Amino acid sequence: MLRIGFVGWRGMVGSVLMERMFAEHDFGNYEPIFFTTSNVGGKGPDIGQEIPPLKDAYNIETLSEMDIIVTCQGGDFTKRVYPELQEEGWSGYWIDSASTLRMNDDSIIVLDPVNKSVIEAGLSSGIKTYVGGNCTVSLMLMALSGLFASGHIEWISSMTYQAASGAGAKNMIELVQQMSALADASKDLIDNPASSAIELDARITQKLRSPALPVAHFGAPLAASLIPWIDRPMDSGQTREEWKGYAETNKILQTEKPIPVDGLCVRIGAMRCHSQGFTIKLNKDLPLDEISSMLREAHEWVELVPNERAATIKDLTPAAVSGTLTVPVGRLRKMLMGPEYVAAFSCGDQLLWGAAEPIRRIMNIVINHLSD
Ligand code: NAP
Repeated sequence: MLRIGFVGWRGMVGSVLMERMFAEHDFGNYEPIFFTTSNVGGKGPDIGQEIPPLKDAYNIETLSEMDIIVTCQGGDFTKRVYPELQEEGWSGYWIDSASTLRMNDDSIIVLDPVNKSVIEAGLSSGIKTYVGGNCTVSLMLMALSGLFASGHIEWISSMTYQAASGAGAKNMIELVQQMSALADASKDLIDNPASSAIELDARITQKLRSPALPVAHFGAPLAASLIPWIDRPMDSGQTREEWKGYAETNKILQTEKPIPVDGLCVRIGAMRCHSQGFTIKLNKDLPLDEISSMLREAHEWVELVPNERAATIKDLTPAAVSGTLTVPVGRLRKMLMGPEYVAAFSCGDQLLWGAAEPIRRIMNIVINHLSD
């Protein structure tokens, strides 16, 4: 029986992974072993079956006994443990949500509705390291997969509106703390029908600039504001989040001629859904109905939203999409720059398709591969 080790199962990504695996009845036909970096001997997650106490995630000998290791623990863990396992001659499969190994030559970035053939070729050629992609990149590819597959994208610019969840649990809490501080500061004005919006605005602005607003994790107010910077700077002037757009898209698709992908990544006060506004330069003037069909027919999770107000505000918002696997694409239209320029907008749950779901699916693909 296969032995599968899970590390990082109680973090943000790991918890969503456990929820999804439980919902899809993924536990079975293999022995799940749960690891921890902080609570050796403690109790693992409730997966509806008996499991042994938590094992030490830094114990290379125990990890070496696994056929597959699935980790959502983070980059520091991967940096420390992965090389030690390789040195020990471990020959199992490593499945990871952290970015550490994404650009390695011997790893594949996984998003099987989009790059199943790349994954299959990797398995056949003996590649053992499979890594989930950056959430924004994965969600862009889920949204526009049909158009990418057509070969008609010359370049693409993605302007992002990224949720607090992408920065982790502590940041999600801080966003709500900020909202709560703003609500407290303005409560008397909200409750008084005679107060004016200008007074309310002055009160909110004062609170946003007050040293009392909690900003330890974001470094700035996010509620009632936004932060146009995510991750660290690169020499190109991009942030690392922006750099990943080009690097990861082309690696996921294994493009022969790399497609330029660039834009600005912006943190906004959504909880767990990333949105993106696209400018797409096509290499020919395709009719909009043809583009719509390509997008719609790409896979079962993409949903085309008509470019109309009612449908857009109902179906194309983080509030509508959060917690679902649906990736809606809308605001589809030709742009004034010319007939080859197309605008589109998309939303997607960054903890599902942006993180946990590709990991869950590659785990099952590897299990099937091993049992073939
Ligand atoms: P996280 O929530 O910080 O969890 C990572 C680990 O922190 C947990 O496995 C847990 O390890 C430990 N931990 C300490 N205190 C905790 C607490 N109060 N609650 C839960 N866990 C606690 O990290 P994450 O956001 O899931 O990210 C994991 C990896 O996935 C990172 O490399 C990240 O870059 C990547 N990723 C994240 C996202 C995202 O949306 N967050 C998207 C794509 C990729 P122990 O149980 O061993 O103590």
